[in-house]
Amino acid sequence: MTITHRLPQERRITGTFPGPKSAALTERRRKAVSAGVSSLVPVYAADADGGVVVDVDGNSFIDLGAGIAVTSVGASNPAVAAAVTEQSTHFAHTCFTITPYEGYVEVAELLAELTPGDHEKRSALFNSGAEAVENAIKVARLATGRDAVVAFDHAYHGRTNLTMALTAKAMPYKTNFGPFAPEVYRMPMSYPFRDEAGLSGVDAANRAILAIEKQLGGDQVAALIIEPIQGEGGFIVPAPGFLPTLSAWATANGVVFIADEVQTGFARTGSWFASDDEGIVPDLMTLAKGIAGGLPLAAVVGRAELMDAVHPGGLGGTYGGNPIACAAAVASIAQMREHDLAGRARHIEEIVMPRLRALADATGVIGDVRGRGAMLAIEFVRPGTAEPDADITKRVAAAALEAGVIILTCGTYGNVIRLLPSLVIDDALLLEGIGVLEDAVHASQKGNTP
Ligand SMILES: *Cc1c(COP(=O)(O)O)cnc(C)c1O
Repeated sequence: MTITHRLPQERRITGTFPGPKSAALTERRRKAVSAGVSSLVPVYAADADGGVVVDVDGNSFIDLGAGIAVTSVGASNPAVAAAVTEQSTHFAHTCFTITPYEGYVEVAELLAELTPGDHEKRSALFNSGAEAVENAIKVARLATGRDAVVAFDHAYHGRTNLTMALTAKAMPYKTNFGPFAPEVYRMPMSYPFRDEAGLSGVDAANRAILAIEKQLGGDQVAALIIEPIQGEGGFIVPAPGFLPTLSAWATANGVVFIADEVQTGFARTGSWFASDDEGIVPDLMTLAKGIAGGLPLAAVVGRAELMDAVHPGGLGGTYGGNPIACAAAVASIAQMREHDLAGRARHIEEIVMPRLRALADATGVIGDVRGRGAMLAIEFVRPGTAEPDADITKRVAAAALEAGVIILTCGTYGNVIRLLPSLVIDDALLLEGIGVLEDAVHASQKGNTP
């Protein structure tokens, strides 16, 4: 693969940060931006490209988060930039529900082609992952005439009212923001590291199915929504057989199976979609994050008979499927194909996973190493136990940042470090970032011993 980058692909921290320009912006921000919106990194971005983010004071950070799995093709991919510029010189908006345009149709055609299953599909485009999830539930309820929605432990589906109800974690997402939307039922997930030993994926699915049948009855359920690999909840990869068993049960009971691939989609896991890895064909899929090279775009794609059951005007929105975002999506998908970014994601797993496993063996504070493609995680525990250790997780992420590497945490217990770099990051830069992570774990562990 030859992807040339505009910015030097290097970690370069000059003195201590935040520097003066970032400090001044923090001061302005404090007086203008809601305290409810927080930022992980105390510096302000001036530029970003490939695997680096450069701040307003000239520091260059290795970015292992890609804005939460968004800038998979890079944060300033030239092909995406050209498509955005071209479209914006013609029209930035007409509203697809007023005057339609080709870009929207083209994105819908691409989604039908790329998503699993060769049945007839239809799409509707939105602005955010949460909005896509809301609309997938609307479609499922309308098409089935049922109300109940099943979600899972550790799930994350967004921050709007319905998606807060679907999201599992109280703090910071739900606490004091209720009342929440009704008819949402939470079922046990397959979490191999924390499930009882020997519980297979099929067993875990049957545990959930039994609970659904006892508490609700399959014929009352409109939709079952699940992330094939849970994102925010801790990069939890369910045991093999879990998703296919749930999918088969949903089909047998007329329940719409919704795969929320907002985080896992678009080459992230080494396939176009994580559902491909599991051999499942969802009835509906929700997509966003990696879809458009950083522009806000989201989609619901799925079975024509479900998506076309909705009355005209039942789906839409002012900005949904914005023409500039659609142009960016078409260009991003072309970049994924041209550079085989799914192959890149598998390559990233191949070079990073052994390092993470070795780190776990060498330190004793990592209970589980998991993930797929360029969606990899380590779960921190107190040595010799499965007890979550959020403190060391925070210390490691902070130490890595101090050394110039942006690393995200996640997990119901706040004890997971997740790696989701841009798929166009150079190997050398990626491995330098992993080296910093390794040093940070070793250093934090020393801090742990009395
Ligand atoms: C991020 C995310 C969402 C919400 O997407 P937004 O664009 O932030 O609204 C929904 N589902 C999953 C799996 C996500 O990772």
